[in-house]
Amino acid sequence: MIRLIDNFDLTTYNSFNLKVNTDRFFEFTEVEELQFFLQTEKLPEKYLVLGGGSNLLFQNNFEGLLIHPNLQGVGEINEDRNYIYLEAGCGVEWDDLVRLSVQYELSGLENLSLIPGNVGAAPVQNIGAYGVEAKDRIHLVRGVNLESNEVVEFTNEECKFGYRNSIFKNELKNKVVVTSVVFKLDKFPEFNLEYGALKSEVDKLGEVNTSNVRQTVISIRESKLPDPAKVGNAGSFFKNPIVSNDFANRLKTTFKDLPVYASSEEQTKLAAGWLIEKCGWKGFREGDVGVHPNQALVIVNYGNAKGEQLVHLSTQIKNSVFEKFGVQLDTEVNII
Ligand SMILES: Cc1cc2nc3c(=O)[nH]c(=O)nc-3n(C[C@H](O)[C@H](O)[C@H](O)COP(=O)(O)OP(=O)(O)OC[C@H]3O[C@@H](n4cnc5c(N)ncnc54)[C@H](O)[C@@H]3O)c2cc1C
Repeated sequence: MIRLIDNFDLTTYNSFNLKVNTDRFFEFTEVEELQFFLQTEKLPEKYLVLGGGSNLLFQNNFEGLLIHPNLQGVGEINEDRNYIYLEAGCGVEWDDLVRLSVQYELSGLENLSLIPGNVGAAPVQNIGAYGVEAKDRIHLVRGVNLESNEVVEFTNEECKFGYRNSIFKNELKNKVVVTSVVFKLDKFPEFNLEYGALKSEVDKLGEVNTSNVRQTVISIRESKLPDPAKVGNAGSFFKNPIVSNDFANRLKTTFKDLPVYASSEEQTKLAAGWLIEKCGWKGFREGDVGVHPNQALVIVNYGNAKGEQLVHLSTQIKNSVFEKFGVQLDTEVNII
């Protein structure tokens, strides 16, 4: 089914709950509908693919076309000794897929429970949480190339995944609409419980199984992160910065309690939330714009904030972190 609407209100299509609209909104539920649209209409200069809108910040109304792919359905497409291969439509809510996989006792996605958004964005963003990234489980990504109007496929390697990064954010930015994703899930689970207090919390529930890991991740997330339905936000606003080991060691001599995590042999990951908190931003509020009181990485809209006010606050935060620590923060949220 196609929906093509002018002056479309995006308030419920962005998790910051910003009151913005788009000149044109195009939703489709079948690959052929997108291909038909591309055959009959010329793409305007300005267009953007919109999933669930939980990682986008619209600075103003969007003067262009928003393409909203909404293919539904999850199905098993293959099986071998150790794995089941599930294909999910890009419009499926991410957490519905995780819930379903856990229900069928398939393992691999449980640490990624309760991440907002749709399946189509998971490979774009290479979403991650609690020591697991989508790339660990993505087998194949299917889509449509908006320039050639051809159906395309990408193996895991071809997606060039990185930390919250992929080919779809770089060479193929805005060139491919992801229409479905094939995930490779374990029949015989090997749990990843190394992150923080995950293991001890799961142990409290008794048996270590996919369902208990999911339940634990959900409880931890609910206690830490604001629900966008109540307070507009897009999760972590900034990525955790990755710096050289030398630089991290030098910082640590001045800031003894700086948390550091090995990223590779030569590089160290710093906690952006800690850096922001040390600059005094945690709990900051000015009008309807603020930094969440429990989570310094999360910038929030308390009601009627404007996109550009949120961007202004993010710039102030970046500047102060750079002044204090010499560390450049990169935004995780896509600013439009
Ligand atoms: C409370 C909260 C907690 C969060 N926690 C986490 C977390 O733990 N880990 C994490 O990684 N993220 C987290 N996020 C961020 C967000 O959930 C993810 O980035 C998610 O993948 C965004 O999905 P979406 O469908 O809403 O994408 P959107 O916000 O709509 O789009 C994100 C980007 O992907 C592109 N895109 C979307 N769909 C497609 C498609 N089908 N084809 C091509 N391009 C597409 C868009 O153009 C845009 O560039 C959190 C967000 C919130 C609000």
